[in-house]
Amino acid sequence: MAKTNKTTMGKTTMGKTTMGKTATGEAATNGTSDRLPNSTKKEKSQPDFAGWAQTILHPTQDAGPSKPTSLPSGLYIVATPIGNLGDITLRALWALREADLVFCEDTRVTGKLLHAFGLSKPMMTCHDHNEEARLNEALAKLALGQRLVLVSDAGTPLISDPGYRLVRACRKAGYPVYPLPGASALLASLAAAGLPSDRFTFIGFLPSKPTARRKAIEALPQGTGTLIFYESPQRIATTLTALSEGLGPACEAVTARELTKLHEEFQGGTLEDLAAHYAEIDPPKGEMVLLVAARPDQAVPLAQPDLEARLRQALETLSLRDAVDLVAKETGLKRKEVYQKALTITDSV
Ligand code: SAM
Repeated sequence: MAKTNKTTMGKTTMGKTTMGKTATGEAATNGTSDRLPNSTKKEKSQPDFAGWAQTILHPTQDAGPSKPTSLPSGLYIVATPIGNLGDITLRALWALREADLVFCEDTRVTGKLLHAFGLSKPMMTCHDHNEEARLNEALAKLALGQRLVLVSDAGTPLISDPGYRLVRACRKAGYPVYPLPGASALLASLAAAGLPSDRFTFIGFLPSKPTARRKAIEALPQGTGTLIFYESPQRIATTLTALSEGLGPACEAVTARELTKLHEEFQGGTLEDLAAHYAEIDPPKGEMVLLVAARPDQAVPLAQPDLEARLRQALETLSLRDAVDLVAKETGLKRKEVYQKALTITDSV
């Protein structure tokens, strides 16, 4: 793994890490079910993960015949790699190998992952549009003592991904739900960004519509550590500009792109610097996380629109109701607030 510091925008960036595409591909190819050793005496209910790891690390060693190790019935929430197959965990492989059914967002994506590890399993989609309908099916299978796995396309299920309703329904019905932790863009980015990590707030995706985004930014907690956003490269410049206006241009921020992949890249600077940088270039490829160390002392008050002037202008041609609707939409202010202001204007005429 090579690490280079690079300078862009006249600022030293946080460094760029490049990883070989197949750096951990060996583990993937050798970690197939045929080669897995038996469980140990120490931990009867689980495979011998240390022995298993040895088999993966030293593929020529005779691992002996493989017998399936029983996986208790329940729902397994399994994290999967966010780009680098080497980030699969031994427990994830175990659960995927033993599962009766794998719930996933997209059977093509998860099929590829299973194939990479020499596995083939029945799969069923579970995404935002059908999760509610899947609940009864899942509960019926758990009642039969089956072992269900939930994965998302990448990373940890439920983190800006489906699964919450399924987990809640299983817990409510008294079935065990087992977390199998692993990769997540959220923690991977925080761990390497170089921003305060003792306290942080995960925001996920900001709304894409300007008014909703502005309101969401106004409601962000400040001074409580690092704020972490998921964002698409196509929207990163707009989001950085909106955050710079809302939280203050001097806030320190980092973009973490293509984590764990060949073109992994961290860019650091102030919100203002980063907004200018991304406004200048074509949207970068891949996936991104944005981290912001928001401090109240760096916030600048949002430029408040001159509400009264705008309302007076709108009232010249529109009814009270239409003028209020229009100005509320334009400014992103609460309709009630705009309405009350409009009344003071009409009352004084
Ligand atoms: N559940 C996933 C997790 O645990 O990270 C996140 C799913 S969310 C639908 C997808 C978003 O996660 C992307 O738009 C991006 O913001 C972030 N993301 C996922 N993989 C990433 C990667 N390799 N590098 C940077 N960001 C990534």
